[in-house]
Order: sequence, then structure tokens, then C-alpha cells
Amino acid sequence: MTINRGETLIKVEDVHKIFGELHALNGVSNEIKKGEVVVVVGPSGSGKSTFLRSLNLLEVPSRGHIYFEGVDITDKNVDINKHRQKMGMVFQHFNLFPHKTILQNITLAPIKLLGKSKEEAEACGMKLLERVGLEAKANAYPSQLSGGQKQRIAIVRALAMEPDVMLFDEPTSALDPEMVGEVLELMKQLAKEGMTMVVVTHEMGFAKEVASRVIFVDEGQIKEEGTPEEFFEHPKDPRLQEFLSKIL
Ligand code: ADP
Ligand code: MG
Repeated sequence: MTINRGETLIKVEDVHKIFGELHALNGVSNEIKKGEVVVVVGPSGSGKSTFLRSLNLLEVPSRGHIYFEGVDITDKNVDINKHRQKMGMVFQHFNLFPHKTILQNITLAPIKLLGKSKEEAEACGMKLLERVGLEAKANAYPSQLSGGQKQRIAIVRALAMEPDVMLFDEPTSALDPEMVGEVLELMKQLAKEGMTMVVVTHEMGFAKEVASRVIFVDEGQIKEEGTPEEFFEHPKDPRLQEFLSKIL
């Protein structure tokens, strides 16, 4: 993989999201560069998921623009599906297809959307499964897997689409504590390989170790951001100080 680190991959420009009376995002701007691992933290209900989901337009901003690889994907004339394919998304609750095998879960989108042959998609899928040590589960169904295994499969499924960025929304929050490590380990590997990642998480250890940048979202706004060191050692915003004092 060749990465031109430092090049902007996603640009968020004054994004607002309004649900009825609620201003869930209130003027968010940011730039995510290639190869960056951006960790997003903040209180429950502050707008973290809405922010993340806006990046691939699962939530359509009420106002503002999102540029992905230089294209304004908030432009109504843009074929969003084409761009969304390049953004892998991993959710808290895995969202695997329950009636499909693990290998089918992984190969479905590459066959349908990338036009890969079944053989090619399966060969790639098996390689990815080997990488996470789950090749023996290729023909199993999601219900036969542990939570940690399911989440690793969900990550592999996203990787099978050869994305340019991976978006994670609290990927370990639904897991039993003993399974958190295996998922974080895989995410660390991806980061090491240069994958651009935006990760909403409460795992501060992960943020400290892996993040290039940490963002604090509060009341629909980015209130502070910085390197893990600046962010955790010298927080400036009083709400961030309070937030950190509760969770660290
Ligand atoms: P977080 O991920 O930080 O917990 P969210 O982004 O999920 O926060 O939500 C931010 C706010 O927007 C919350 O008050 C939430 O209830 C509200 N919200 C999120 N999605 C919707 C929706 N689809 N309809 C109405 N309100 C929503
Ligand atoms: Mg959320």
C-alpha cells in the first residue's frame, strides 16, 4: 500500500445536523489526513455517532459540506454509493448477516459492488480470514462465533472492500471485557499498516497508544483536539477536564 501521508482525505466544513428541535451537530469542521488515526471521545449523546455517520453520509448534514478525496459528497448530484464503498464502517453491534456464512458475509459486497468473481472474492476473503486467524470459521454462521470473533469478522468484511478509510463506532462497547483486547489488537495492526481510521471509543488506552489526534465532542461541537499527549496531559477545555476526570 502506498500512502501519501499528510494529504487530506476527508474535509468536514461547518456541518450541522438537526433532528427536529435538536441540534445534534452544531458547526463541526475538521480535516482528516491520509494515514491518520483520529480518535473521537465525548459524553453520551454529544454527537459522536452523528459526526461519524455524517462522514459517509449515513446521516445527511442539514447544512455544511463533506469532501471525500476532493469530491463534495454532500452535493446532491454525486453518486454517494460509489464513494461510500471506499469508507469501511464498523458498528458496535457487528451487523453481520445472520443467515449467511462468514465467508458469504465477507464476499457479498466485493462480488456485488466491486464486480469480483466469486472465486476471486473467496480467495481474498480467505486470505483476510487467515490474517485474523479465523479461516476455520469460513463456513460457520455468525451465531456460532463469540462477540470478539464477530467484530473481527465485521472488520474483515469492511476490509474486503479495500477501503481508503475505516470508520469505527464504539467497536468494543458491546463486547465482554475479555474480548476487547483481540479487537483492539487488530485495529492497532491496521493503524500500523497506515490505514486511515476514525474511531469513536471509550478505550483511552487505545487512544493514548494509537491515536495521531484525539477529538473531544461535546454538545454537537468539537471543543478540543490535540495529540494524545496534549489532550490527556494538558486538557484546556473545562468540560474536557471534567470528562477526563470521570473516565481516567
Ligand atoms: P453519541 O454517539 O455521542 O452518544 P449521537 O450522535 O448518537 O451521540 O446523538 C446526538 C444527539 O442526537 C442525541 O441527543 C441523540 O438522541 C440525537 N439523535 C441521534 N440520532 C437521532 C435520530 N435519528 N433522530 C433523532 N435524534 C437523534
Ligand atoms: Mg454513539
